Amino acid sequence: MTVTNIRGAGAGGVGRQLMSEPIALLGIGKIARDQHIPAIAASNAFALAATVSRSGGVDGVENHDDIAGLLTARPDIRAVSLCMPPVPRFDIAMAALAAGKHVMLEKPPGATVSEVLKLERLARAKGVTLFATWHSRHAAGVAQARAYLRDAQIKHVQIDWKEDVRRWHPGQDWIWQAGGLGVFDPGINALSIMTEILPNPVHLTGATLAFPENRDTPIAADLAFAGPAGMRVAAVFDWRQEGPQGWNITVDTTQGQLRLTDGGATLHIDGMAQKKDGLGEYPGLYHRFAELIEAGQSDVDVSPLQHVADAFLLGRRDVVEAFED
Ligand code: NAP
Repeated sequence: MTVTNIRGAGAGGVGRQLMSEPIALLGIGKIARDQHIPAIAASNAFALAATVSRSGGVDGVENHDDIAGLLTARPDIRAVSLCMPPVPRFDIAMAALAAGKHVMLEKPPGATVSEVLKLERLARAKGVTLFATWHSRHAAGVAQARAYLRDAQIKHVQIDWKEDVRRWHPGQDWIWQAGGLGVFDPGINALSIMTEILPNPVHLTGATLAFPENRDTPIAADLAFAGPAGMRVAAVFDWRQEGPQGWNITVDTTQGQLRLTDGGATLHIDGMAQKKDGLGEYPGLYHRFAELIEAGQSDVDVSPLQHVADAFLLGRRDVVEAFED
């Protein structure tokens, strides 16, 4: 259970006034521009009131150089959404929570499990919402996959998350630095879907991580997990994929086969395409953030990050050829 009450529902919350609640967006990079700004623009619940950006922010929107400037200038803004990489995000999240703001975190919610739990404790103490998002859980096939698997006897799960890092992460140095997660930056999306759709928890039993000799984070990882009644999960994350790109999960059960493709956006059951579901990933996240604030709740599930931490704990380390961007 990841949802916790932070106060009596509605008490001290923003209630129905959430209609166009002003929100600040911090860290205006690729994901802020590709997804957050359009999702906020389409949202009935939030209106983009300010940014915090070291590189200038968004045309026509008030910008501050850092979180301290925002907090001083705009006490009326009660919700912030943090889109910078995980390592610099922690101090900013602590400052926002300490100032009594509702906070939404991009994935992964932190660079370590402990820091996320610290954020969760501070949110509870302050009576504000902390939402550790997992955008892939809002992909169009995931809710139906979860429903299908609820009572299924699962035999085997195969996860293949293979993409070309040069195509998807050009010039992003932080993903190659300690705390940047390397191939787990996309791979954790697969783990967020896995932990959402499987009816019972699994645990890591083995891993092999391939580190380029000139980098701090892995370029590829093979993971094995065990679940109840002999159920097994095999996951292959690889950033060296050229040609067709793939983000696929196949679940074999005693009643049939479920296949999620396109990062969870497409669902087939026994080869039959299923109807797409939900609001879309980022509109779904902002809708959920508004619901959590309204209900006086936080949603912080560290299980995908815990699996990554376990892979770094248990995994064998192979050194592979240097990677140049
Ligand atoms: P990015 O473009 O490399 O960087 C995001 C922005 O964060 C930067 O443009 C910068 O914004 C700010 N930033 C960078 N370093 C900072 C620092 N040391 N201190 C304060 N701010 C800093 O990264 P991204 O691709 O948007 O990814 C950001 C997060 O979103 C990551 O956790 C990633 O996993 C997640 N995400 C990314 C994608 C994707 O497709 N790229 C998809 C889903 C989730 P300013 O110049 O405005 O300060």
